[in-house]
Amino acid sequence: MSVEAAPPQPAEGVVMWNINTTCNYRCSYCTQRFLDDRTRWARDTPQFLAGFRRLPGRWEVKISGGEPFLHPTLIEIVAALAQMGHRVSVVTNFSASEAKLDQFLAAAGSALRVFSASLHREYVRTEAELTAFIEKARRVAAQLPAGGTLNVTCVATRRNLPELPALARRLAAAGIRFKTQPEKQNRDVIAYTEAERSQLLALGGHSGLGVIAPSFQGRLCWAGASAFTLDDRGAAWRCYPARRYRREYLGNFLDGTFTLFDGARPCQYAYCNCAVPIERGLMAR
Ligand code: SF4
Ligand code: SF4
Repeated sequence: MSVEAAPPQPAEGVVMWNINTTCNYRCSYCTQRFLDDRTRWARDTPQFLAGFRRLPGRWEVKISGGEPFLHPTLIEIVAALAQMGHRVSVVTNFSASEAKLDQFLAAAGSALRVFSASLHREYVRTEAELTAFIEKARRVAAQLPAGGTLNVTCVATRRNLPELPALARRLAAAGIRFKTQPEKQNRDVIAYTEAERSQLLALGGHSGLGVIAPSFQGRLCWAGASAFTLDDRGAAWRCYPARRYRREYLGNFLDGTFTLFDGARPCQYAYCNCAVPIERGLMAR
């Protein structure tokens, strides 16, 4: 029997960091919990930064939440990551003020890789609000460093789906990349009808990957060695499905127990629910 070859190890690792759990929105499709202990987050910042300093080589730290712009030391963290030589990406509901966004862009500087603005139509409802959202995105896009990209994402709820093709065209006309995300309930993709699946696939499926629920079960994947998820308490897992099933725990960033795998390992999960490892070429496809 032939043994499948792993893809080449990516030159740069990726950390998918849920920096906090608090959010100023309460979207109906949100998969996060809402806790609010900001004192702890501020106190933990030096230990998180020490953990990032210990990582071997260069990593892209993709910061999401909750809503990361509510984190009390976000700007300090981003500046420190850039200073360490890591790169920074962010996923935000884009409700932060322009002044706060400018502070973030200045702190990230040339280290900024992907700025992902999530459009939540339950909060950006009117035409005026949508126009303001797009203008704000154009403003950020105009300030990106070389190699930095901005995209707008929207969850393809049944209610949103019919409006998304026009939205995609409108964003394209503004020079902005648009990506859809399938709606999940209890972390699994909802039971779209065949017609809805076709509509979603015509929009690129999950984050432009051309599929709705990617699966690489049994294939070799570098997650755990060149990628991992990190939660707001410092707990690290191989990837989001690993965290969901509480398998392949990598230890805690804050107490010194964190360790990476030493190579690619087979995927144990039927649904690879995060586009980041796929876009970074971590698994044999
Ligand atoms: S903005 Fe994001 S984290 Fe906040 S409620 Fe909506 S989906 Fe959840
Ligand atoms: S679920 Fe995705 S990221 Fe996780 S091990 Fe499998 S292929 Fe890799």
